[in-house]
Amino acid sequence: MKTADFQGLGPLNAVVRAPRDDWQWHLANAIRDVRDLGRALGLALEEVPTDFPLLVPRPYLARIEHGRRDDPLLRQVLPLAAENEAVPGYVADPLAEQPQATGALRKYRGRVLAVTTGACAINCRYCFRRHFPYSDRRLSRADWDALLDDIAADPATQELILSGGDPLVLPDRTLARILERAAGIPHLRSLRIHTRLPVVIPQRVTPRLVELLKAFPRPVTLVLHVNHPREVDSGVAEALAPLRGRVNLLNQGVLLAGVNDEVETLEALSWRLHEIGVMPYYLHLLDRVAGAAHFDTGEAKGRALIEALRGRLPGYLVPRLATEQPGEPSKTVLA
Ligand SMILES: *Cc1c(COP(=O)(O)O)cnc(C)c1O
Ligand code: SF4
Repeated sequence: MKTADFQGLGPLNAVVRAPRDDWQWHLANAIRDVRDLGRALGLALEEVPTDFPLLVPRPYLARIEHGRRDDPLLRQVLPLAAENEAVPGYVADPLAEQPQATGALRKYRGRVLAVTTGACAINCRYCFRRHFPYSDRRLSRADWDALLDDIAADPATQELILSGGDPLVLPDRTLARILERAAGIPHLRSLRIHTRLPVVIPQRVTPRLVELLKAFPRPVTLVLHVNHPREVDSGVAEALAPLRGRVNLLNQGVLLAGVNDEVETLEALSWRLHEIGVMPYYLHLLDRVAGAAHFDTGEAKGRALIEALRGRLPGYLVPRLATEQPGEPSKTVLA
């Protein structure tokens, strides 16, 4: 990543320079204090009491516009007083999946979803997991062995999905162990990883990770999470370049009021993703989690935006508008 990506950081710049290629340094040294965030951005930001802490890795911080309070990237990470207003219909666990999420896996038909870790590299204010208590929990080696034994014993399992939290918080050696074992299960046809890490800390795409994904003997799909075209800077583009053509790169975004709820923004997002070899896949309606009501656009606006995108973009760049309903065996596609 170029030093240029860290310009505009003001007082934090000096701290950032040395270890900028080390993703684990970035994980450990993310911004956790609203005052530090304000200082870095030249904004007087007020502290808001919250049980979902502020967490902003520095490579992401570097993309937030200095001095701009309504920056769409800042809005995704800054705790606002509105989070503490109770709004009817917005609940702690909108997908009613907390009991399974604290365990190892959830099964869709033919697919095993492994909640590898509760940890993330960034705390997105609209996340449906914001009230979950398992934030630092990880599957143990014994959990993984048991999970992979189950998959090996069940020929109906076609896809292994690593999810979280963010599975790429796990170190390469842990991923290597899991992938090596998964590669030896002949009926497993597909490996999928849902992650925001390459977007928020592009340094996470280490040469070792690239090698691991390329060496997997069956198709690998990386589902990224980008909501705004400015989240994709040159560092993200460069990080993903070695995977292009080797790994399926898809994007799953969330429709967020004040972030990407304008047709021009979504259009620019699709083109920017296209430019770096990522196919738009889903655009999620907000899960109605307590504390995130101020991000909700409503379903009608989502449908209208997708309709407008169809008039402006090649069909393959229009994401599917989707929502998740508790207890349903798959997402519901609305448009
Ligand atoms: C939607 C989703 C899936 C599975 O859904 P597909 O329709 O097969 O893409 C798996 N994991 C996560 C985290 C999802 O959001
Ligand atoms: S990266 Fe994904 S799982 Fe993690 S906080 Fe953001 S939305 Fe939630």
